[in-house]
Parts: sequence; structure tokens; C-alpha cells
Amino acid sequence: MFERPGIFTDMSLTDRSADIAALYQELILDHYRRPRNKGELEGATSSVVMKNPLCGDEIALHVIFEGDKVSDLRFSGRGCSISQASASMMTQLVKGKTAGEIEQLRDTFRDMVMGTTQPDDQAVVGSLGSLRALSGVSRFPARVKCALLAWNALESAMTEVVDRKDL
Ligand code: ZN
Repeated sequence: MFERPGIFTDMSLTDRSADIAALYQELILDHYRRPRNKGELEGATSSVVMKNPLCGDEIALHVIFEGDKVSDLRFSGRGCSISQASASMMTQLVKGKTAGEIEQLRDTFRDMVMGTTQPDDQAVVGSLGSLRALSGVSRFPARVKCALLAWNALESAMTEVVDRKDL
């Protein structure tokens, strides 16, 4: 079998993607165990609660907007590792960004977890950072809602702010 390089090529490829999967798994667990930006937020201008009854996930997102820029945000709640890690990573990524920039990130993230774009796609690599760790969710359609929960909460908070401005 050592004379068949084809097997080695396949094996090393498998090993490498196994390494990446292990690294991603580690990142998800790290954010799940030590969530960033978790807790209440004093002076929050928007608070949105979102639930994913399919899995029992719950996220309360607290945001301070300056104009249409997210100047600070925190989340509370509980749920599976995917929902909590996604919320933790999202808060790190979107802080300081405008609604327009966030919408673009959300679209990129959604396409990745739904499997429409690949995790090595240039738009994904260039913008999503640690959230790429959730790319494996695309193989588990039932978990897509877990991954998108915090993003849906943020979208709802942004819609509120835009609506208020229109008044
Ligand atoms: Zn979940």
C-alpha cells in the first residue's frame, strides 16, 4: 500500500481537514465556555430577545447605537454551544461597525452556514474571522437556526433603530 501515492494524497487531505475541524471545534467550545461580551449593558438603547424553540436557545441582545453604528453590545441567555459561540463571536466582530457593514457581514455569514458559499471563499476569509469556525453548521441544517439566532436579534435591533429614525 505504500507504493500507492494516491492513498497518501487522500490521507493527508483528510488529516488536514480533520485538523481544521478540531481547531474549529476548539474555538467554538472556547467561546461557549468563556463567552465574550456576555452580561447586561448599562445604557442599552435597544434590547431584543430571540428564541429558537427547536433547540431551546435563547438570546437577549443589548445594543448601544450611535446613529446607525453599534458602539457597544452585550448578550445574555442560554442554549447550545453553537448559539452561544455564534453570539459571542458576533459581538466581537460587529462592535464599532455601521448597520450597512453589519448587514453585509450577516449575509456573508448566512451564506456560509447555509452552505451557499464555502468557508475558503474570499468574502468569508476576508471578513468573518473566528466565525468561520461555524462553517461546519452547513452540514447540519437543523443547527442553522442556532447559528443565526444572535444575528436575527441584531437585525431586529437595527430595524428598530432605523424605524425610530423615520418617525
Ligand atoms: Zn441550538
